[in-house]
Amino acid sequence: MNIDTTGIEYIVKKVMDQIDYAEETGAPVVDGKDGVFQTMDAAIEAAAVAQKEYMKKPLALRRQMIAAMREIMLKKENVETICAMVVEESGMGNYEHKLAKHRLATTGTPGVEDLLTEAWAGDDGCTLLELSPFGVIGAITPTTNPNETIVNNSIGMLAAGNAVVFSPHPKALKTSFLCIKLLNEAIVSVGGPRNLIVTCANPTIEAANEMMVHPKIRMLVATGGPGVVKAVLSSGKKAIGAGAGNPPALVDETADIEKAAKDIIDGCSFDNNLPCIAEKEVVVVDQVADYLIFNMKKNGAYEITDKKAIDALADLVCPEGRLSRDFVGKSAKHIAAAAGLDVPEDTRVLICETSKDHLLAVEELMMPILPIVRVANVDEGIDVAVELEHGNRHTAIMHSKNVDKLTEMAKRIQTTIFVKNGPSYAGIGFGGEGYPTFTIAGPTGEGLTSAKSFARRRRCVLVGGFDIK
Ligand code: NAD
Repeated sequence: MNIDTTGIEYIVKKVMDQIDYAEETGAPVVDGKDGVFQTMDAAIEAAAVAQKEYMKKPLALRRQMIAAMREIMLKKENVETICAMVVEESGMGNYEHKLAKHRLATTGTPGVEDLLTEAWAGDDGCTLLELSPFGVIGAITPTTNPNETIVNNSIGMLAAGNAVVFSPHPKALKTSFLCIKLLNEAIVSVGGPRNLIVTCANPTIEAANEMMVHPKIRMLVATGGPGVVKAVLSSGKKAIGAGAGNPPALVDETADIEKAAKDIIDGCSFDNNLPCIAEKEVVVVDQVADYLIFNMKKNGAYEITDKKAIDALADLVCPEGRLSRDFVGKSAKHIAAAAGLDVPEDTRVLICETSKDHLLAVEELMMPILPIVRVANVDEGIDVAVELEHGNRHTAIMHSKNVDKLTEMAKRIQTTIFVKNGPSYAGIGFGGEGYPTFTIAGPTGEGLTSAKSFARRRRCVLVGGFDIK
């Protein structure tokens, strides 16, 4: 039979066949293939419909969905494709380390079990404090951990019963679309609603701004630099801000110096220093500074001693005093070559001694350049570390066996994560206890976000019953 594929009836039928109708409202759900919609508004509308559907489903389905999301994101070919793609697309980071970060986010992010009910029972009855969804969350994700943040946010936000609309960084679009597509596939494969995780085809800053003011977005979560955190905090909506850091690693004379040197280089070189928690500068007590540097060199650090070369390096990576994106997340070898330095093949980090006011120490570089600031004693070291952290309250590391000084540093620096005697990444559950997150909310105080951070606390009161004590 010949079908007229140019006739209007055929075209209308074809379009209608692709449109689903929401059970409850009867409104058409625009077909955002693989969770990607042409406009931000369409993405948000579809997520709102999906979230309503989701509210009717049992917790057992949530658990199944999250298990399926983990499974698809751990499939060997998917992990490898995503991590190769993100290195290529963003031009940043280290493939092997990306694999580890991706697996950490996928396996370790808490699910529904994170939502614990509190209860009071007594003569007046029984009251529950329940963790209930916000609805549709708008989440803005960074270039530095695009896939990990999407996986981590999606698991946490959906575990709490929400839908999420992502506004990914333009430099990691392909990777973000792939993650969103795979997560949707996983959800649908176990019978979950479509469009619980969506985005728009062109997520510009304007689209992010549209998302921030959209009436159907009930919560905003921004993971990125100071600009985007400020933007969500100014939105007038409930917002979680996970902003910049500049983590200092303080080493005093009581530390195991050999271990400290290895831990610092391991942490600083991880994914070419992209993680916001990674060691960005070292503050060391003079008495042990030479031995620390000696051991850092044994662990793949290359020391630049010439003052002019240090200043030239600063000019290269921060021309006119502003961080150049050209070197963020690049390898030590790449940066050294651009700076005209001939360094050994196995160089992992470029180290150099600087003053505490040097640009290399003050800026959040996000590349494997590690300035080292010498101090007379641990008290001065704490002062300098606090100054270099800039009040971000993000992450700090200290190597010491002096419990009093460790305690003093923790009280003074007030960071969300304080790692003692280990590499920075131990703070997100990589070789340290505790669950991982890729949205560390210092400014707004949720800390290491998980499902409970994306839930509303609601009190449910039964008067005069259910006390069985
Ligand atoms: P970035 O601030 O350049 O971009 C982050 C996201 O915000 C992107 O999606 C970008 O498109 C968007 N954006 C930026 N300004 C915006 C504005 N005014 N309005 C709306 N959207 C805006 O950050 P980046 O380079 O992708 O990531 C690195 C920064 O993020 C570093 O400062 C790092 O410390 C921080 N970071 C923090 C955490 C954390 O958990 N606290 C995690 C990862 C990265």
